[in-house]
Amino acid sequence: MTNAAAVRGGLSDEADTAVFDDLVAGRPTVWIPGAAADDTRASIVSSTRTPALTPALIDAAEERFRWFAPLFEELFPQTRSQGGVIESPLEKVASLSRALGEEFGEDFPHELWAKRDDALAVSGSVKSRGGIHEVLEVALGAARDLGVDLDSGPLVFLDEAVRERMARMRIVVGSTGNLGMSIGLMGAILGFSVTVHMSLNAKAWKKDTLRASGVEVVEHDTDFTQAVHAGRAAAEADPRAHFIDDENSLSLFAGYAVAGRRLAGQLAAASVVVDEDHPLTVHLPCGIGGAPGGIAYGLSTEFGDAVRCVFVEPVSMPAFLLGRLTGLDDGIAVADVGLGALTVADGLAVGRPSRFVGKAVGHLLHGYATVTDDDLLRTLAVAEATAGLRLEPSACAGLRAAGRFAGAGPTEAPGTHIAWLTGGSLVPDQEYEALLEAGRRLLRDP
Ligand SMILES: *Cc1c(COP(=O)(O)O)cnc(C)c1O
Repeated sequence: MTNAAAVRGGLSDEADTAVFDDLVAGRPTVWIPGAAADDTRASIVSSTRTPALTPALIDAAEERFRWFAPLFEELFPQTRSQGGVIESPLEKVASLSRALGEEFGEDFPHELWAKRDDALAVSGSVKSRGGIHEVLEVALGAARDLGVDLDSGPLVFLDEAVRERMARMRIVVGSTGNLGMSIGLMGAILGFSVTVHMSLNAKAWKKDTLRASGVEVVEHDTDFTQAVHAGRAAAEADPRAHFIDDENSLSLFAGYAVAGRRLAGQLAAASVVVDEDHPLTVHLPCGIGGAPGGIAYGLSTEFGDAVRCVFVEPVSMPAFLLGRLTGLDDGIAVADVGLGALTVADGLAVGRPSRFVGKAVGHLLHGYATVTDDDLLRTLAVAEATAGLRLEPSACAGLRAAGRFAGAGPTEAPGTHIAWLTGGSLVPDQEYEALLEAGRRLLRDP
């Protein structure tokens, strides 16, 4: 347990203290780290920054996705037009930007684009890259250990005899929902036995979908961090289990980073210039920090200082912001400052950030924002009405935050903006209708 008053007293200036007070009060806030503070943080982290983080990590992940592409083409028809590459479109959403501006009374960016991971194959969320990548890496290792001949390509994983052997290996993961979906569904496809430890926030329909695919779901009446710990302990007791560690995994991170790189190609194809004079601001919903961190790292290898990444969290669970603001990273949890209430953004319901992402990429980030549940629901309803988008609440965080950075003032960011829409297409109709109705009610009666 960390003492909140002592943490507040240790903050470097008034601006940081004001952000801390906003966080503790559950008020939506924006934090742009000061240059001086950035320097100290950079010097603290340079000694501990993980040495394994190099662009070669992204190369290797891209190569794995490429090797498996023929299998994806076979299994997921929607990837065929892209040669088996699991990638989402980038779309300009000018009218949505205007509608959000009217709804929230803020200047939303003129040049607003949406990165449509809500429509990504397999899990319908940003987790399709990270989670799948680690499963692919584990599958290749397991196949080699089991003496499976990989020379004939990835379709060997559809072979019954190979699947029987793969089923002896188990993949274990702890999840708020979407990571479990991505890993569970992909793991089952490759023949693994999979166990997903789900936290209190995880939605029933995600558990049902997984069970229907033959995945073992263990329900925990605890938060995400404890679900992860339970999963880790169970995997350690089983010599044939591989634990996918959302708090610490470089493989997940590398899979996410591939998206940053591919986005550079999509922007070029859309003739969007990104350079020092034409900055790109990317608004990323953040839970433990792995997905947005990997994407931010991938983008930084392409665009350097011309890209500005913003991490966005719910007011009740600003774990990553709190860790960065205090310099404590995973040494502080939202519960330490009295936060942690349930949020409608289940994909972001994480109380303690990743063990390495803050230190690894914190110095690359431009800013942070927190958003209320009501604003997420309003955004969800506006996105449906204006652009026909079917988003889950977590995916609305980047969209909502875009309005905090486009207007005049200290947070102004000219140039192109992208809201990363991190999930939604697999939300069942009934579940989605209830969210939409809640959002519409708030639009009528804010
Ligand atoms: C997991 C998730 C995120 C954030 O990813 P982290 O790695 O937890 O930071 C954002 N949006 C959705 C929909 C997610 O499922």
